[in-house]
Amino acid sequence: MLALSIRSLHAAYPETVTRGPIDLHTHSSVSDGTETPTQLMRAAVAAGLDTVAITDHDSTAGWDEALTAAAGTGLQVVRGIELSTRHEWRSVHVLGYLFDPNNADLLGETARIRDDRLTRAERMVARLAEDYPVSWDDVLAQSGGTTIGRPHIADALVARGVVPTRSAAFESILHFSGGYYLPHEAPTVLRGVTMITQAGGAAVLAHPATRGREAVVEERDLARLVDAGLVGLEVGHRENTTAGRERLLELAARFDLVVTGSSDYHGEGKPNRLAENSTSPEALDRIIAATSGVPPVRA
Ligand code: AMP
Ligand code: ZN
Ligand code: FE
Ligand code: FE
Repeated sequence: MLALSIRSLHAAYPETVTRGPIDLHTHSSVSDGTETPTQLMRAAVAAGLDTVAITDHDSTAGWDEALTAAAGTGLQVVRGIELSTRHEWRSVHVLGYLFDPNNADLLGETARIRDDRLTRAERMVARLAEDYPVSWDDVLAQSGGTTIGRPHIADALVARGVVPTRSAAFESILHFSGGYYLPHEAPTVLRGVTMITQAGGAAVLAHPATRGREAVVEERDLARLVDAGLVGLEVGHRENTTAGRERLLELAARFDLVVTGSSDYHGEGKPNRLAENSTSPEALDRIIAATSGVPPVRA
């Protein structure tokens, strides 16, 4: 009886007192967000967030600017990344939190991914240039210079008046089956999770149910990722299907994984709004407890 009432008291007064939503997946112009890390932090404060994670694709180049911009605002910043990996031929994104940014394996692998993204984008643009008025210089003009991808090609097509919006480009010309798509090199998801874990970080599978329940990672593959250190699953994400989310919750319970929810904010580059999905303070506590790379910062 006593134990029960203590536990319920504890639940009513969690250790982490938060002042707003926790959003653990956002992009700046270091990758394909439309706002600089400084503008992203201002947007996070304006949205009333307690905690924001900056998770640019394959780069930590926005970390320092984000911390500087957040100083004095009371916003808690979780330094992170969204690592491009693959499972067989499929692209899989892995969120990594609070790892050591100087870890040699991660530094080498992210540099390789960014380099291959660059040549892949160049090859895609060469194909596109045969049919559309778009050049490699147009695309470079749209990129923040660190991690390049289809969003920057989309923005160049918008600037040239070929399509009205970035999303329209993704739904047509730049779609996987649009005739111009090319893949880029990426490590396996197992290697991605292993690298993040060994760098003292917490790995969480990003939007793992965008293709429905049947396409969610198989239990035996997930078991291997959990053995490699996987901490959580991003269940709350606008692109996860309803049935897919149910499956993810089953798997999270089966493997005792942390469940997160996030916006995947890209500024004006995507309709996703900050805090449209969020993560509980208890889930964030578990993520932080799993890490030893860099601490979350609230200044
Ligand atoms: P890539 O990795 O180069 O193949 O490009 C895919 C990335 O584009 C994903 O990470 C998406 O989050 C991102 N993206 C950014 N803006 C959009 C958009 N408006 N529609 C679809 N994907 C987008
Ligand atoms: Zn993106
Ligand atoms: Fe993603
Ligand atoms: Fe993302």
